[in-house]
Amino acid sequence: MAFDLEKLLRPHISKIKPYSSARDEYSGKAGIFLDANENPFGSMADGKFNRYPDPYQLDIKQKLAVVKGVEANQIFLGNGSDEAIDLLMRAFCRPGIDNIILLPPTYGMYEVSAGINDIAIQKVNLTPDYQLRPDAILEAVNENTKIIFICSPNNPSGNKVKRSDIHQILNNFQGLVVVDEAYIDFSDEPSFTTELANYPNLLVMQTFSKAWGLASLRIGMAFASVEIIKILNLIKPPYNISGLTQEKVLEALDNASAIQRIVKDTLAERAFLKTELEKFPFVSTIYPSHANFLLIKTEGARKIYEYLIEQTIIIRDRSKVVLCEDCLRISVGTRTENEALLKALVQYKP
Ligand SMILES: *Cc1c(COP(=O)(O)O)cnc(C)c1O
Repeated sequence: MAFDLEKLLRPHISKIKPYSSARDEYSGKAGIFLDANENPFGSMADGKFNRYPDPYQLDIKQKLAVVKGVEANQIFLGNGSDEAIDLLMRAFCRPGIDNIILLPPTYGMYEVSAGINDIAIQKVNLTPDYQLRPDAILEAVNENTKIIFICSPNNPSGNKVKRSDIHQILNNFQGLVVVDEAYIDFSDEPSFTTELANYPNLLVMQTFSKAWGLASLRIGMAFASVEIIKILNLIKPPYNISGLTQEKVLEALDNASAIQRIVKDTLAERAFLKTELEKFPFVSTIYPSHANFLLIKTEGARKIYEYLIEQTIIIRDRSKVVLCEDCLRISVGTRTENEALLKALVQYKP
């Protein structure tokens, strides 16, 4: 059975006509624009931002296509990856009928978004070393399973997922396989964007929020077939990426080579943090990380977490999460921040 996008789509979505602005009909940049009720006299912010932004962010996509080695029309940009997650559920999952498969422990937003959209969730836990169980995942698939979310490198465990397992899912599931690569820049693993030509059922997500250092701008990327990208563009809010964000992201893309230094610094700091954390008797395991954080198993995670809060050091308590008993997740900070954390931990009395 081949992948059939039309069949996967919620029926009413195929009938939607996109919001159309006059500027969809006139693509020139010069002209007298009296079509959108904008304020031509200026703005209260530096005289800028008084015009609506490009709804399809074409300047960004052209540059990003080069950086990522994909075609511009295979890119969707969202108000954070979170918007792409939500739009995928709205496009493909019928509320109260369809389901998605999640692989805990994993990123929390998939479940939140499914809840908001009234989409049932099937959970197939990872193995104790946080790898997929592809046979069990495929067994969980039923006729109403529309999306499987795979996060690699995985949050909160930090490890990369075996490629052959992802291939097995891609080859045997007729719904959409989302590979969330929010942390890919910190990994030596090639992106699954290189597989887009082979798999019409693949969608790869990345974000500007982590290695690119632009979390506040709220912009996430999705890469997929031209057909899937068209659907996301059809149902997104027309101006989902603000003009200010577009301006700053273009700046960042012109500066894309600087990301290598940031990643190098992060990895060096991650190694330092790991070495130092290993010295504490209450730290029993530090899991291998391909991301900009470490998951550590401790004795008395909640107590350590609360102690650090008192010291105004905030880490993430994951001890209630399945397969993460007594685990804490620590983002890699600067040397100053990491030293402050370590100094506080030296003074910690279990
Ligand atoms: C941080 C993160 C994202 C990024 O979300 P944005 O909405 O783009 O900021 C996506 N997926 C995972 C797994 C993450 O940890």
